[in-house]
Amino acid sequence: MANKKEVKPKASAYTKDAPELKQVATNNHQGMFDAVLSRLDMAFSKLNPSYNFQQVIKSPQKQVMVSLPIMMDNGTLQVFQGYRVIHSTALGPSKGGIRYAMDVDIDEVKALAAWMTFKCAIANIPYGGAKGGIQCDPKKLSVGELERLTRAYTSAMSDIFGVDKDIPAPDMGTGKREMAWIVDTFSKIHGEDSPGVVTGKPLTLGGSKGREAATGRGVMVSCLEAMKKIGMDRKSATCAIQGFGNVGSNAARLLNSKGIKVLAISDHTAGIFNPKGIDIEAALLYAKENGGILKGFPGGKNISNEELLLADVDVLVPAAVQNVITEHIARKMKAKLVIEGANGPTLSEADAILFERGITVVPDILANGGGVTVSYFEWVQNKYGHYWTEDEVNAKHDASMTAAFESVWFNAKQFKTNLRTGAYITALKKLEKAVQYRGNY
Ligand code: NAD
Repeated sequence: MANKKEVKPKASAYTKDAPELKQVATNNHQGMFDAVLSRLDMAFSKLNPSYNFQQVIKSPQKQVMVSLPIMMDNGTLQVFQGYRVIHSTALGPSKGGIRYAMDVDIDEVKALAAWMTFKCAIANIPYGGAKGGIQCDPKKLSVGELERLTRAYTSAMSDIFGVDKDIPAPDMGTGKREMAWIVDTFSKIHGEDSPGVVTGKPLTLGGSKGREAATGRGVMVSCLEAMKKIGMDRKSATCAIQGFGNVGSNAARLLNSKGIKVLAISDHTAGIFNPKGIDIEAALLYAKENGGILKGFPGGKNISNEELLLADVDVLVPAAVQNVITEHIARKMKAKLVIEGANGPTLSEADAILFERGITVVPDILANGGGVTVSYFEWVQNKYGHYWTEDEVNAKHDASMTAAFESVWFNAKQFKTNLRTGAYITALKKLEKAVQYRGNY
């Protein structure tokens, strides 16, 4: 059961009145990039940056769409759509993952690219923001088809990607295997070994220790920092985690290791609730032995994904897909703290409700920044040709995430707003300076 002692978040001290959050709830959002624009408008209304900068940061720098004809195993040809959006290079070469999913489209990739810009600025790493994706269902493709598709995409993007230009990484539906195919294809096309062109690679190809668990680790650090700020006791705290892939499973393991009891987990095949706490090691082993999915895991009673989001827990970690915290969920949610492991899990309309209810939300552009932070460390190690131990990587990661959390908290407090707007303000302050220094022609 959740910690019954009522936790009164200290956060409400500065989240008590922010009319800009109510304003956004009345806007009509068409898609994910619109959601980015309305959150930017919220931050603009607080920060009041120059109009010129506002125009620049609202407009993705480059959008690339490619058609990829792939020979399928059965001898037919199928054409897939691939995307890469570079939102900004004001702070450095663009950085962002590649997603394989059926709902990938240019609108989604634009939104994810913009979030990368803000995420890198908040994490204080010298990167701009980008994102890529291929509209496909990776679970329905054979390994051979996936390899041909990944290599075709890399070839089509060979002038876009580059160690000091644009650096992809894994995202939903991709991992170190796809990154290895990308680095190999890119290196062959350019005639030189280029390990730094992607991050999230296998260790033997120049990957970094600690990268695989880094996003989940960042979720854990953000959660502990937020708990300290709002006065939530981690020893008696409980949580629910949606998604049991890279981010969700590592977050579950690491939160559990800090004494936070995980009562509910889910993926796209199953949801499990156990009031005594789920045996996370058993769940990890079960998923490993069952094709990465939780269906059939016997460690608790079956629940729906909606029941997971409304579970009687202290902390909710959405770590699967976007747009799951709707107005309905926000109104009924029992958790007092939300740590956004996924990108875009909360609808703008739900933000205002969570805010009014005093629920603290650590936003995606801060909470899931651990992945890109260690991606940056991987890139530095590739350039340097010298590799750090896992303890070194984790120590640098934790220090970086804690500093990022502090600056977002500070800005939210100073501008009397919630952590999401505080995070945008943190990013925009830095980006405005960079855009001004660079100038225009
Ligand atoms: P993944 O593919 O490894 O795992 C996704 C998980 O979500 C799987 O367990 C899947 O079953 C589950 N899922 C899918 N649809 C679902 C649904 N409708 N309901 C419940 N569960 C569902 O992906 P990931 O890398 O863990 O990414 C998850 C989220 O975190 C994405 O939003 C991604 O953009 C974000 N993210 C990932 C990283 C990273 O380093 N991997 C970094 C930052 C942000």
